[in-house]
Amino acid sequence: MAEENHSSTLAFDAADEYRPEAPPPPEIPAWKDGSIRIGIHTSIAGDISSSLEIAHGLGANALQIFSSSPRMWNRGGMRIAEAEAARFRARRKELGLGPLVIHDNYLINLASPNPVLRTRSVQAFHQELVRAIALGADYLVAHPGSGRESTPLAAVAAIAQGLKQAARGLKLGDLKILLENTAGQGTSIGSRFEELRAILDSSPDLPLGICIDTAHTFAAGWDLRTAEGLEHTLQALDRTVGLDRVYVVHVNDSKTQVGSRVDRHEHIGKGKIGLEAFGRILNHPLLAARAFILETPIDAPGDDRRNVAALWKLLGRVVTANGDGMKPRPHRAKKAKSAKAATSRRAKTTSRTKQKAKSKSRSRGK
Ligand SMILES: [Zn+2]
Ligand SMILES: [Zn+2]
Repeated sequence: MAEENHSSTLAFDAADEYRPEAPPPPEIPAWKDGSIRIGIHTSIAGDISSSLEIAHGLGANALQIFSSSPRMWNRGGMRIAEAEAARFRARRKELGLGPLVIHDNYLINLASPNPVLRTRSVQAFHQELVRAIALGADYLVAHPGSGRESTPLAAVAAIAQGLKQAARGLKLGDLKILLENTAGQGTSIGSRFEELRAILDSSPDLPLGICIDTAHTFAAGWDLRTAEGLEHTLQALDRTVGLDRVYVVHVNDSKTQVGSRVDRHEHIGKGKIGLEAFGRILNHPLLAARAFILETPIDAPGDDRRNVAALWKLLGRVVTANGDGMKPRPHRAKKAKSAKAATSRRAKTTSRTKQKAKSKSRSRGK
């Protein structure tokens, strides 16, 4: 572009003269039109762009993905080829999907007191940011990490420092990094809103925000089942991190009880939080304009479609889904025995579930 600029100064005719145009106003992405945004974590198996077709086909207008395998250290960074990223960005625009949320790799632990793991985590998070920028993501959701033998204070400092190191030298543009609250399992940081606030405060130069997961919030002891419980939770959130910093809500019902500190996602309305509570959450004025993203399990074909439809229904909308959705992906091996029993129960009623027994036990989304 600099050349064009230069040659224009040599123009003979005044009419040809190069007049620099005012820079175009920043383009506001279509998804920021104020409409309600319902998304679901979709698979990138095969081709990263296929996740867009899946989300669209399920009746979602937003989505979350992993930008690489979530349980592997990607040596060499696992960059996304520009042609592939460009195809993804163009197709996303065509489908009007947004926001695009990327969930970071599960192995990353910026709070690790082990220097090798910590360095690897910083490098991997750097690559997460590079891929998020390439794909034009709006948010990168990150689990804060686990301090192990460190104090929470030291862990918070390590996380803030790690984020800073990972983002060094990158132009993040409109990308925001969202810290997700946790269920409080083990020494994980982020089950207390104050810990999230401490990370925000320690990183004033980074575009940080918060992602609130309903299942994690519930497991961490906040009783979302009642209207009063929800009010109480939202007020506490506002006093600590500030509701204006909450951009995404992970909408998951919980297999475990309030305060269990155990993170097990359940279908909307089938868990301990319950359908009525989700109706209040989705329609709460203090949560308006947030993106609601499902990370519910897929135990049987159609579970993804049913969960998306359930959220729209709670918002008083009927949205048609004409896509196939994702293949069942049962929960993690710990529950293999009960999952197997459940599978055989279901197999009696439908032969389609037979394929499920073969697939490896794992859960998705956190
Ligand atoms: Zn979770
Ligand atoms: Zn989550």
